[in-house]
Amino acid sequence: MDLLGKRALVTGGSRGIGAAIARELARRGADVAITYVSSPERAAGVAKEIEGLGRRALAIAADSADPAAIKHSVEEAVAGLGGLDILVNNAGVARGGPLESMSLDDIDAIIDVNIRGVVLSIQAAIPHLSQGGRIISIGSCLAERVAMPGISVYSMSKSALISLTRGLARDLGPRGITVNLVHPGPTDTDMNPAAGPQAEAQRAGIALGHYGKPEDIAGAVAYLAGPGAAQVTGTGIVVDGGLNA
Ligand code: NDP
Repeated sequence: MDLLGKRALVTGGSRGIGAAIARELARRGADVAITYVSSPERAAGVAKEIEGLGRRALAIAADSADPAAIKHSVEEAVAGLGGLDILVNNAGVARGGPLESMSLDDIDAIIDVNIRGVVLSIQAAIPHLSQGGRIISIGSCLAERVAMPGISVYSMSKSALISLTRGLARDLGPRGITVNLVHPGPTDTDMNPAAGPQAEAQRAGIALGHYGKPEDIAGAVAYLAGPGAAQVTGTGIVVDGGLNA
């Protein structure tokens, strides 16, 4: 219960990695707000599970591509939980294909959600974050090495979070706020199912030989959110089964 009394907001917490993060933070004692865009029932289900753990929970509809919705979701979380200690930027979209055949809509969606959405949620959260607060964003092992074709723009969006994280670690360090990334490798979710058509090629590169589970990523996030990581800032933890090794 190292997060007892902490108040967290997890973007994209209705499914996959975000839902696992929300559950793990709650299991460790935090009250948790999640956002979602298209899965109200699943978001309500995650909130119910969190309440079942004896914690407060909020499910907030907010499209991370919409600046006004992002601002509103942070304010709603702060009002509902009575403040904010931990922000987890998890919501993300993956669109692939060779660059020459990508649509403008796909390129915009990646940039709007994976980059601008993270920038704006942090911007909205900064005035509310407590001394010693935590900002954790979900990057990707592709942020550092792109070991497969057809994923250049998505990879770029995750690389952008590295310099954002480093710069904010400098800016927010004086307030004792740490800013870090967790970089998942192939992780079994709707976005990248372990039984999907692209899975075998990814699995072949993983040193441990198998996909990760959302809980593997949640464990790293909970570590960065907890007291044991108080001196860790401006960096990232790669949880990729050795794909980038
Ligand atoms: P999923 O597609 O399984 O789940 C995505 C989650 O994000 C859902 O809760 C979804 O909400 C939410 N979301 C998507 N778009 C938006 C939006 N515009 N506004 C608000 N919420 C949104 O993805 P994963 O769990 O696999 O991915 C989570 C993060 O991890 C992403 O940032 C992804 O890029 C990253 N990642 C994933 C890897 C993998 O192999 N799975 C590998 C490396 C990084 P809703 O249910 O309402 O649609």
